[in-house]
Amino acid sequence: MDGNRLRDEIVLNLAHIISSAGSPAVCLATVLVGDDAPSQRYVRNKHVQAAKAGMISRNEVLAADVGQAEVENVVRRLAQDPSVHGILVQSPLPAGYDEEAVLALIPADKDVDGLTLASMGRLVRGVPGLVGCTPLGVMRLLQRYGVATSGKRAVVIGRSMLVGLPLSLLLARKGVDATVTIAHSRTADLLEVCRQADIVIGAVGQAHLITAAHIKPGAAVIDVGISRTEAGIVGDVDFEAVQAVAGAITPMPGGTGPMTIACLLENTLTAARLQGAFPA
Ligand code: NAD
Repeated sequence: MDGNRLRDEIVLNLAHIISSAGSPAVCLATVLVGDDAPSQRYVRNKHVQAAKAGMISRNEVLAADVGQAEVENVVRRLAQDPSVHGILVQSPLPAGYDEEAVLALIPADKDVDGLTLASMGRLVRGVPGLVGCTPLGVMRLLQRYGVATSGKRAVVIGRSMLVGLPLSLLLARKGVDATVTIAHSRTADLLEVCRQADIVIGAVGQAHLITAAHIKPGAAVIDVGISRTEAGIVGDVDFEAVQAVAGAITPMPGGTGPMTIACLLENTLTAARLQGAFPA
């Protein structure tokens, strides 16, 4: 399951939708605090892809020591600005910042990361809204590559607000209809839990936690975890060994990462629609 290829398809499709509508301005604003190198890289990529999708993007860059009040002021300004449709505060903020307090300032209809209380509530209640980019990206991969979900057993390893929990809810939703197990750091016998699954998703951040022994022959395996090692970026899945057993598998890198960006842009268009700034 090639995430780079599917990202390109999605971005091209967004560009087509926007130009067909007469190219109204659709704007994503990112807020980057501090000089963490991976965060800078992620944000840069988001802007490059936004331009390809025919969107406008703004990047508010703040020094690491700017202080909580100034970060909140910037987010408040973006929240009130009708020309901004999506707001993304790049996580993690430097140590000492109250991230929850910053998130709370993002209106649900501009919350392209799907992380606010309102967005999570909408997801649980099944009300239309914005869903986290990484979980949405996993769903797009499953759909695009024809992985059946209805009545299938899915195991999501990881229960974070960012990935594992929303993804579990999406997989169990009516219309997707998987039978979902949420595994986590206290799960007893992870190997056995995984071996029964038709779909295994690693969202932990522990290099090569998932081996060929965890995978039922033919199962679909999706790798969200990122570990930075001396050998480069490594996923939760031991790709070389698992690809011989799996029916479908994402590489790391080149799988879920590009899909997160594609779905951020998809969410930005959805946000513009929710705000009545783009035809439904
Ligand atoms: P997190 O640290 O908040 O959550 C990790 C989860 O893994 C926890 O729920 C924990 O219970 C579980 N866990 C830890 N050790 C375990 C073990 N031994 N067995 C089973 N479960 C275990 O992290 P997160 O924010 O959810 O991110 C997870 C990973 O995904 C990280 O590596 C992160 O860098 C990566 N990530 C990737 C993308 C992407 O686009 N590919 C996006 C976001 C996050």
